[in-house]
Amino acid sequence: MKLISFEKNGQIRVGAIVSSGSAGGEQRVIDVTGMGGISSMNALIENYATCKPLLDAAVKEAQSSVPLSDVTLLAPIPDVRRNVFCVGKNYIEHAHEFSGSGFDSSAAAGAIPKAPIIFSKPPTSVSGPGAAIDSSLDPMQTVDYEAEFAVVIGKAGRFKEGDDPQSFVFGYTLVNDVTSRGLQKHHSQWLLGKGIDGFCPMGPTLITADEVSSVADLEISCEVNGELRQKAKLADLIFDIPTLIKTIGRSISFVPGDVIATGTPVGVGLGFTPPKYLVSGDVVRVSMAEIGVLENPVI
Ligand code: MG
Repeated sequence: MKLISFEKNGQIRVGAIVSSGSAGGEQRVIDVTGMGGISSMNALIENYATCKPLLDAAVKEAQSSVPLSDVTLLAPIPDVRRNVFCVGKNYIEHAHEFSGSGFDSSAAAGAIPKAPIIFSKPPTSVSGPGAAIDSSLDPMQTVDYEAEFAVVIGKAGRFKEGDDPQSFVFGYTLVNDVTSRGLQKHHSQWLLGKGIDGFCPMGPTLITADEVSSVADLEISCEVNGELRQKAKLADLIFDIPTLIKTIGRSISFVPGDVIATGTPVGVGLGFTPPKYLVSGDVVRVSMAEIGVLENPVI
């Protein structure tokens, strides 16, 4: 199932996407808010076992749908309950481009991490498709993009030995881990440079885990002003999704609706000489065939 959050008359609604049936047919949205007590995407995730039969029936019948193009999309989880978990340097070629840039305060430990590097972005950084990335919030004018595949957690609690990591996965979405490279370097840590308001665009859809037969075969890409900058398969992750779930969940109890952004491939602005930082007027598009296009203008 492909899910969205959207705005209608000033309210946040939850929707399921259906296709018209014909090849290349338009995508339409069914408002599922209220079904089975769904008050938000977090509520849907938390009560999915109860909600799923109702959602399946609604999608099958496709009653009262509206064109997807008619709704204002929000981040699939616009009200994340806490910080978005993130992973640094999780693709080999990107680890080399970052460590060689002089901006990596962890470079002394080696270009390729021996264990996952985990940091986070606060809820105030989360924004949706179409939301502006405000470059004036970076006093050092070093705003960079990072296209990332993100895992949405569906099960509460800590990971215990013998657990199936996949049992914690509700679904997947996309994140742009927008970063101030200057702040990231100046403060010798990653929170401040990556936690800026609106620097975590997310979406456009959240697909449930059963929609994906092989995560390794998924391909993510990023364009800036129509120029392809990043393109990679998830098979290239240094630490795969089960490893990330074990690493975080061994020590920190998961909450349904948690998001783990899994890292960015080679091709960020910092990797060019001179760096290609984002400036006002640019448009960034992070995309994956299965999830859609997450497009955000820079102001
Ligand atoms: Mg990142």
